[in-house]
Amino acid sequence: MSHPPSAPTPRRNVLEIPTYVAGKSAAPRPGLTSYKLSSNENPYPPLPGVVEAAQAAVAQMNRYPDMGSSALYDALSARLGVPVSDLAAATGSVALIYQLLQAFCEPGDEVVYAWRSFEAYPIAVAAAAATSVRVPLREDGHHDLSAMSAAITERTRVVLVCTPNNPSGPSVTQAELDAFIATVPAHVVVVVDEAYLEFVRMADPVDGVATYRTHSNVIVTRTFSKAYGLAGFRVGYAIAAAPLAGALRAVSLPFGVSGVAQAAAIASLDAEPELLARVDELVSRRAELVAGLTDVGWRVPDPQGNFVWFALGERTTEFAAVADELGITVRPFAGEGARVTVGEPESLERVIELARRFAR
Ligand SMILES: *Cc1c(COP(=O)(O)O)cnc(C)c1O
Repeated sequence: MSHPPSAPTPRRNVLEIPTYVAGKSAAPRPGLTSYKLSSNENPYPPLPGVVEAAQAAVAQMNRYPDMGSSALYDALSARLGVPVSDLAAATGSVALIYQLLQAFCEPGDEVVYAWRSFEAYPIAVAAAAATSVRVPLREDGHHDLSAMSAAITERTRVVLVCTPNNPSGPSVTQAELDAFIATVPAHVVVVVDEAYLEFVRMADPVDGVATYRTHSNVIVTRTFSKAYGLAGFRVGYAIAAAPLAGALRAVSLPFGVSGVAQAAAIASLDAEPELLARVDELVSRRAELVAGLTDVGWRVPDPQGNFVWFALGERTTEFAAVADELGITVRPFAGEGARVTVGEPESLERVIELARRFAR
């Protein structure tokens, strides 16, 4: 005879959710400025108009925020040339990934994505009681899109394309994306995760908005956390055909995006020219870093985001420990490699020194 459990038990999939490992903060080193290069954050402080807009919104904290985030939707709609019906805002684009899996997957449905990719994916898939189908990246850190399309079965409901890919760095081209989408059945959702879009500098870059316009099964996700420097405020958005965007909004947490976050996001859009100049500066630092790494004998996969990937294998943990000694924190994935954010100028020199010590 089976007894009822003596304590409440969550659904089985909840017990299978992997833990999200957040990037560590830099440990203080006497006489040394420490740099946190472990979370792909923007090293710049907020632009002045953004702080003021956020402070003005703070004064309204006794009120619920605008539940429709209508001013934010209007600003995004005007900026992107997309109707409000085709937008969904949420507390970071991670929230949108949770929402879309919840909205489109029955328990056991399959979600295809590259691996290694963004570590929130397996967590969100398990939380939705769906099944992860991981397709190994190519040797050069690119998505293996033909293997991903071969991995689609009749149980597949969602495929995730992370471009640029976190943590390996490379992006897919528009031609590659178009050819891939052409192989995906029309009832399967294709997510194009463009968290690092602003940093892309390559031939034939993905145009997420154009892609959504021509495909009723594409959801583009974007965030204010990286280029826009609002990681602490949690704002992201999706662009998709109205029925898909509506499904994302239907499962969203009421009043999720705070009034302060909405105000800061709108002010950041207004300050876009300055923000994009900062992004340009980070992109040139990225090129400097790649050149410095090449000089000391390291070749990294083509970095199209604000980070570079070191394929270190068994030396990963040691690499992270030496980074700590040099006053920088990186994001290690034990046994695989480490992701290092492009940050402050002084931090670049330390990354190159670190790489020099691990040159093969
Ligand atoms: C950082 C990141 C996000 C965005 O996360 P937020 O929840 O918006 O802060 C989404 N996708 C990838 C691949 C990322 O690296």
